[in-house]
Parts: sequence; structure tokens; C-alpha cells
Amino acid sequence: MSMNPVGRPTRPEVAATNDSVHPTLTGGRGLLQDEPLIFELGGWDKTGVDLPEAGGDTSVLGDLVRAEPIGLPGLSEPEAMRHYVRLSQKNHAIDLALYPLGSCTMKHNPRLNEKAARYPGFSDIHPLQPQSTVQGALELMDRLAHWLKTLTGMPAVALSPKAGAHGELCGLLAIRAAHEAKVAREGGARRTTVLTPTSAHGTNPATAAFVGYQVQEIAQTADGRVDLADLEAKLGPHVAAIMVTNPNTCGLFERDILEIARLTHAVGAYFYCDGANFNAIVGRVRPGDLGVDAMHINLHKTFSTPHGGGGPGAGPVVLSQALAPFAPVPWVVHGADGLQLLEQPEGEAADAFGRMCAFHGQMGMFVRAYAYMLSHGADGLRQAAEDAVLNANYVKARLSDVMTAAFPDGPCMHEALFDDRWLEGTGVTTLDFAKAMIDEGFHPMTMYFPLVVHGAMLIEPTETEPKHELDRFTDTLRVLAEAAKAGEVERFKGAPYHAPLRRLDETAAARKPRLRWTPPPAHAIAAE
Ligand SMILES: *Cc1c(COP(=O)(O)O)cnc(C)c1O
Repeated sequence: MSMNPVGRPTRPEVAATNDSVHPTLTGGRGLLQDEPLIFELGGWDKTGVDLPEAGGDTSVLGDLVRAEPIGLPGLSEPEAMRHYVRLSQKNHAIDLALYPLGSCTMKHNPRLNEKAARYPGFSDIHPLQPQSTVQGALELMDRLAHWLKTLTGMPAVALSPKAGAHGELCGLLAIRAAHEAKVAREGGARRTTVLTPTSAHGTNPATAAFVGYQVQEIAQTADGRVDLADLEAKLGPHVAAIMVTNPNTCGLFERDILEIARLTHAVGAYFYCDGANFNAIVGRVRPGDLGVDAMHINLHKTFSTPHGGGGPGAGPVVLSQALAPFAPVPWVVHGADGLQLLEQPEGEAADAFGRMCAFHGQMGMFVRAYAYMLSHGADGLRQAAEDAVLNANYVKARLSDVMTAAFPDGPCMHEALFDDRWLEGTGVTTLDFAKAMIDEGFHPMTMYFPLVVHGAMLIEPTETEPKHELDRFTDTLRVLAEAAKAGEVERFKGAPYHAPLRRLDETAAARKPRLRWTPPPAHAIAAE
């Protein structure tokens, strides 16, 4: 029996409390097939392609030429197809069902975006191609930049960062460059510190530390907002920036955002806004009007481009007038010969702090995000934000009598946050509850984040879920919550019973991944 380090079975067929489920001969579950590793499929002497014999040995590698076979398994095309389709079925996807991971914004990825991203003029071009041959792609980048600036009310944008966290790095490097330029100009002491609220996403303090700043926490009020008095006490001439999310990671709008910006600017610090939650306010509020100096936009959240297992992200950063000169190259300019990428830190870009990556960023994501913007229009984007907030409030309202809302007073924004007070004395934890959701076919919500809320469960339904799906989801959670309170502990402790694998030691899997497959010893095979 395969057990994990905390003594729970990892294989579905050995579910101790589930006697009615017979182990299957194949390891499959109904029409869901079990699947060994590709190396275990044993296709060492096969290949799926028919290549002509290589003509003559023209290698110049001398004695570096490989003497042994490389050791890649060979599969026929149908075998390869089945292998990867079966593997894909073991994972969850937004195309399968609701994906309520709070903070992650797992919304539907419209197929129109995918179609646009595959146009050869966008997908078959190379970053080193002469710019005169990629004018359409440059125009798309220019227009995307225009709408990102318009939607945020900010004068400049750096498109190249490749994720939210990469955008944070870009924003803080611009802030550091602006402070350094001021010290070079006027003298004075270097600023050393970045302030982040206790509820901040982990990437915020990590980014600040990576850039070389000390991180200091700002306390939170009982109703989940930045504690203004504490902020004011910690601000001073040593503070380079604050990093605040709005709506914050508790799913709440920072009511005092204008005052936060005023206090920050009064000490000469910059206001970095973590824009991962922009999807809750796009079309309603412009961060530029709130006094924000830099903000990354996760195109893969707000503008529906795939992420997680679905593809790379993109984290463009909008910048205020004060920070715009320090933006990293490249950016698109209108030249005499059409559009051009300004690549060198000279002329208009003389103060650029450098560059974030080799080329210009994630072209495929730019296309998808732009397609999403155009297909929605201004009214559609605003409605997407409003519906995301409506859906989260519906979830909050439907669950608040059986679970404990972390901040029960007033509406939430785009995500509903619960704590684990309602589980007290049941013997069931947030983790157990989340695992039981898997048995019901739902991906768990974000657990144990934000850290300020005990046993947090952060649910972000997004605007793309219809009411009947939200009902199915909340009905299921209600029944599970009642079961936990009624003492059905084993249902939770042993969960998931029905998943392809059961409780795994996820920390060990991440910290000590086994990346090399070695064939089992011959005697082990003989004994089977
Ligand atoms: C997702 C997220 C980030 C990081 O974005 P990545 O694209 O995953 O790097 C930062 N802050 C918040 C609040 C987020 O939700």
C-alpha cells in the first residue's frame, strides 16, 4: 500500500473507508485510465517517425560523439497521443469546471483570443526579424500599450515583464532608479525600506528584498484594511516605496486609498500598487486617479490570457509621469519609417534602467489580451468587473450562514474570504475541507492565504461562472460544511478518495523533486 509521510494512502484503490470501491485490475477508474510514466511504456526499440538513414558521418565532434543510445522511449503516434491525453485528464483545467482559486483569477480564456494569437503574422515571426517586416505586430503592441494606459489613467507602460512578479521587479527597479537619480542630482541619503501590509501577496516583500530593500510590515485594521495610523508611523525619509494591492488580498477595497497615496508622497516615497486584482475594478476606477506611481497588470488574470498550466503570463507595468523616464527598453515609437522598437538607452530612453528580458515580452499574450479588450469594449470590460464582484458576493451571501466570513460587514469585491472559525472543534481543517471538495469534482479555493486570516479560504469565482454553476458549487460546499459539523471526520481526513492520486507530500515533491528515472532492478521485475 502506497502511503505518504503522514500515513495517508496515495492510491485511490486502497481507500480504507471506501469498501464499496473495489480495486480495479488496470488501475483505471471507470473511463479514466491509469497511466504509467512514458519511460515505463517500454518502447525502447520503436519510433513514431520514419526518418531516412543519415548520409555519412560529417560530425566534427571527434571523440565527443555519443557512443550509447540517448535513452529516450519511442512510441507510435497513437501511443504518444494517448499518453499525453490521459495525463491531461488527471489535472484540473478551467475548461473542465469552476476553478475558484482566490487571487489567481482563473477565468474562461475565450477561443477568439486563441484564434487571433495563431495568425501567422503574430505567431510565425521572430524577434530578430527586420522591424519593417513586423509592422503589424508592433502596431498591436502600440495599441495594447495605448489601452493599458487609458484604462489605468497612467502616462507610460513597460510591456516586457513576463509575469506579475516580474512586473513588480520592473516597477521597483524603476522606483530605485528614480531615487538614485535624485540622490545623484541633489545628494541626500539613500532610501532603504519598502513597506508592505501584512496581507500582502508573498511576491511583494520578496521583490522588495530582491531589489535590496528592507521590508517592513504595515498593520491591518480589524475590518481588513491598511491601518493608516501604523502606515503614518512607519513612513519617513528612509522609505522608498509602499506596495499595496487594491482591492487587497482580503478581497476588500482600500477605502483610504487616496490618503494612503497622499501620506506616501508626502515623504517622497512612491506608491507601487500590486495590480493583480485590477480585474475587479477595470472600467470603474483608474489607478492613476488614485495616486498610484507604478502598477503591474497581470494580462493572464484581468485580460483572460491562459496561465498556470495553460501558458506563460505577461505583467506589463504602467508608470506615472515621475517614473516614466526610467522605464526599461524596449518600447514602440512612431518613427519616420513607421513603427520602431526603441532598443538602446539613449535619446528619449536615456534614463531607462535597463531591460527586463532579451526581447520585447510575450507576444502571444499581447495578442490575446488585445483581442479580449476589443471584443468586450469599454462597457464589456466594466461589466466583466461588475459581474466578477457580483458573483463573489453571491458566493459570500450563500455560504455565510454555514461558514464564517472573515470580514462579514459590507460587500466584498471579486473574492469572498472565509476563515476556519466555523471548523473549530470538528477535527476538520481547511486542508481537509479543500481535499473533500476534490472528491466532489471541484478544484479547491486558495487555502491559508492571506496569512492574516486563520485557516483562510479565498474563493474567486470570476465573472465567467453562470448562476447555476455557482449554485451547484455553493450547494456542495453547504452540504460538506454540514457534514464536517456533524462529525463525519473520516470523509475529510481521508479525502480525496476519488482522485487519481490521494494525499501527497506536496512539500517534499516541490523541495526534492525526483527528476531522473532509473529502471527498476532486474530482480524486482522478475519478482512481480
Ligand atoms: C498573481 C498575483 C501576483 C503574482 O503574479 P504572477 O503573474 O503569478 O507572477 C502578485 N500579487 C497578487 C495579489 C497576485 O494575485
